[in-house]
Amino acid sequence: MSPPSTASLWRSALLCRCPSCGTGPLFARYLKVAPRCRSCGLDLAFAEHGDGPSVFVVLVAGTVVMATAMFLEVRYAPPLWVHALVLGPMAVGLCLGLLPVFKSLLVALQFRYRREDE
Ligand SMILES: [Zn+2]
Repeated sequence: MSPPSTASLWRSALLCRCPSCGTGPLFARYLKVAPRCRSCGLDLAFAEHGDGPSVFVVLVAGTVVMATAMFLEVRYAPPLWVHALVLGPMAVGLCLGLLPVFKSLLVALQFRYRREDE
């Protein structure tokens, strides 16, 4: 069996799908990885990555929120409450939306490169 292509890894990560078949859902709940793929039966017990995805989410979401804050301030100079009203929900939404994608990407990369601790 040949390893999945990089494009299919990105696709399965963006869609939160199994890194092997690309069709079965990766998560049983919001961020809980399913024990097995419902489509191909791949054992997903290898998918343990600690805090790895959250680091990348903080970097990406923080960059986007800070760029938006600077743009708003330079362009419109709104009062502080407008920043809080716009950027607060934006930061929370970005983090919650990106976490499954980055977790799925790390699972796909672990699957591709067969990284195992121990
Ligand atoms: Zn599968």
